[in-house]
Amino acid sequence: MTRKKPDLKSLAPETRLVAAGREYSEHGFVNPAVYHASTVLFDTMEELLAYKKPFVYGRRGTPTSRAVETAVAALEGGFATKVAPSGMAAISTMLFSFLKSGEHLLMTDTVYDPVRNLCDTVLKGLGIETTYYDPLLGGAIATLIRPNTRMVYCESPGSLTMEVQDVPAIAAVAHAHGCLVALDNTWSAGHFFKAFEHGCDISVQAGTKYLGGHSDAMMGTITCSEATWPGFRKAYETLGQFAGPDDMNLMLRGIRTLDVRLERHMKNAVIVADWLRTRPEVDSVLYPALPNSPGHSLWKRDYRGASGLFSVVLRPASKGAVAAMLDDLALFGMGYSWGGYESLCVPFKANRTATRWPDTGPALRLHIGLENPADLISDLEAGLQRLSRHA
Ligand SMILES: *Cc1c(COP(=O)(O)O)cnc(C)c1O
Repeated sequence: MTRKKPDLKSLAPETRLVAAGREYSEHGFVNPAVYHASTVLFDTMEELLAYKKPFVYGRRGTPTSRAVETAVAALEGGFATKVAPSGMAAISTMLFSFLKSGEHLLMTDTVYDPVRNLCDTVLKGLGIETTYYDPLLGGAIATLIRPNTRMVYCESPGSLTMEVQDVPAIAAVAHAHGCLVALDNTWSAGHFFKAFEHGCDISVQAGTKYLGGHSDAMMGTITCSEATWPGFRKAYETLGQFAGPDDMNLMLRGIRTLDVRLERHMKNAVIVADWLRTRPEVDSVLYPALPNSPGHSLWKRDYRGASGLFSVVLRPASKGAVAAMLDDLALFGMGYSWGGYESLCVPFKANRTATRWPDTGPALRLHIGLENPADLISDLEAGLQRLSRHA
């Protein structure tokens, strides 16, 4: 390629999503090819033994993986990115890479539940101790830091209950004590929250959600600061992680349209959340983009937008009444995961140990897709009527 490669750092976030990683395409095509590849052949024994070519073995990187890694690093504003076959694989790889036996991990109490399970079983078995902390502690997290605390892990907003964390305050205190700060940035897709500008050293994402964006591919990403990258990279390569070529390509494709998709997810979610707030069946709406939702002021200070995922707490109702509402929704699907083009609604119970979730009524998590919000509201309205009739 003879044309100039754009200087990504000088470009606006939307432009970066379009431009990043395109240098891996060949023959004039807009998109890089999808490399299904393991073996790379070398011309000479000297070249083989030197192991210095840009591509040396499938797991060590292909043009497909380099393109998606470049695009995610540009999206997150980090130094560099590596991929994993799922969000959970990205998180476990990140934790295994930075933590060792005898060290202590401070984990937000609102963490994605499978991560809690990882801490309480596998990490514990390896001699890594986890303390769960109130996500709203902010700088007061200082009181929980021990001499052997290696990392503070944040997830903002928190899974299911949507608490917005004061990440810059946590990062300032953590760094003053020599701890790393890692963030699960899946909710914002790295587009609406710039982890590295807010003091994080590491940002992980379930690309499965908004990067893919079509409920058809799975992948995870680990993005590091320049200082944390060399150590992480070595451990990552030893742990044998990579991702499937077709899924990497679907992530790359999704990233190109991330800005327009997220903008519409937010627009629709604000309309639906605002409507839900007025309903007598609803006790509270947990969507930081709404002025009267918890966490709104921190969200406004630190975020560039809100994605389509939020929760609502209903007034007390029986399990049967909630089932009557959910079982017959036509547009809202019921299923795990989120971040695709379609709307979803699932009931949840929050698993907390450091804090107490009041559990005043049944809680629902909604993902607002790209449908017309008036259609979504009609579907929910009929559902809430079924709920009331049943109760
Ligand atoms: C879904 C999710 C994950 C895990 O991603 P998978 O690709 O399903 O393994 C991690 N963190 C958050 C916040 C998630 O929503």
